[in-house]
Amino acid sequence: MHRGLKAEIRRIALLTLFLLLTGFLWGHILLTLLLGGGLYMLWTFAHITRLYDWLDQSAEGPPPEASGVWGDMTDFLYRMQQRNERAKQSRRQLAERVKDITSALADGIIILTPDRELEWWNPAAEKLLGLVKQDRGQSMTNLVRDPRFVVFIQSDALPPPLELNSPEDPTRTLLFTAATFGEGNIILVVQDITRLRNLEQMRQDFVANISHELRTPLTVLSGYIETLQDNADQLPKGWAKALLQMGQQTERLNALANDLVMLSQLESNRKPPSRAPIMLDQLLQQIAEDARMVAGDNYLIETDCATDTPFKGEYKELYSAFSNLVLNAIKHNPSGVRVQIRCFHTASDIVVEICDNGSGIDPKHLPRLTERFYRVDQSRATSTGGTGLGLAIVKHVLMRHGGSMKIDSTLGKGSCFRCQLPLLT
Ligand code: ADP
Repeated sequence: MHRGLKAEIRRIALLTLFLLLTGFLWGHILLTLLLGGGLYMLWTFAHITRLYDWLDQSAEGPPPEASGVWGDMTDFLYRMQQRNERAKQSRRQLAERVKDITSALADGIIILTPDRELEWWNPAAEKLLGLVKQDRGQSMTNLVRDPRFVVFIQSDALPPPLELNSPEDPTRTLLFTAATFGEGNIILVVQDITRLRNLEQMRQDFVANISHELRTPLTVLSGYIETLQDNADQLPKGWAKALLQMGQQTERLNALANDLVMLSQLESNRKPPSRAPIMLDQLLQQIAEDARMVAGDNYLIETDCATDTPFKGEYKELYSAFSNLVLNAIKHNPSGVRVQIRCFHTASDIVVEICDNGSGIDPKHLPRLTERFYRVDQSRATSTGGTGLGLAIVKHVLMRHGGSMKIDSTLGKGSCFRCQLPLLT
């Protein structure tokens, strides 16, 4: 039992005893009890009023002096009030800290309601999107009106990050990333990736320029080497081997420059590929014929195209992609290998498969095979004259046509490159 309650019971017991005794001596027990009880109630009422007054002033300042039950209660209330004050203080400090942290961030952070209305944002978001105080409660789609952003922010399952020009300054590129939290609220992170995009553009331009610039001197070199080879009989003995090697190496450099130009064109070309109808069976037939010219009788190249549906795409790019795959099957496999070029269509896609029964690729290489300059075996690639860019070109061409590639390969059994391209209606 609480100390205050015990003291109160003791006080009531003593008061009753005192009243009984006084009443007995006075000869009016009931009247004395009534008077004493009334006084006790008045005293209690005074305590209650003082407690109310203190609570009325938000329990600020020291609590009123009281003893017994009232002392206990006042103490309880005082301690609760102190605890509450401390919790409020630490919440205030936490909120201040979060505000400081988000203010220090260079990335914009915006909190949206489930209805995509602006609830809160940090100073960086203000700078990046030009938000002002009055925008609170506005719909986010009123502030960024680009249709791609509208689709992005309205979608239920938030899609991958979206890259857009800043509505404030179109020379800057912003990356929007969204995540949901709480009960359908959205946190939108806005990053200024202009520098990154500029660097990427510089890299692309550098590769495109350097590979383009390499072509002219290489053409001159190849021309002279060919002329010298044609007149080999007039040259000192022993030059033939050197000329042959010079010819081979210039050819390699030429192939590298051409592949680099092709890859940088594919990368930098933001325009979608032209969508002229192409008869894939004829295109693959042509590739097979050209490959037979390179491979001679050493390889068996077969085509089996079970589709006469025209595919809408860019002929030059698709020729380059499928031709790379067929030539790879020859380049990277010993003679005697059978290369099968198949094509068929499903309800939504055209599928082109280029399979061989050659040496196959160790599965550990498969995830990295389409990276530029990635080769399974550096020394073998050198002897085959590969640039290491072929599969990167294939991947880019397929991506530009909205398609993808799957590689299946077993060491010692062969490889299968399956290209899937969505049919456009
Ligand atoms: P490369 O110019 O070397 O052909 P690619 O990007 O076209 O570059 O191919 C990357 C690597 O993948 C090649 O070096 C080769 O080791 C391997 N590769 C590609 N196609 C085949 C294939 N059909 N059979 C075996 N290995 C292959």
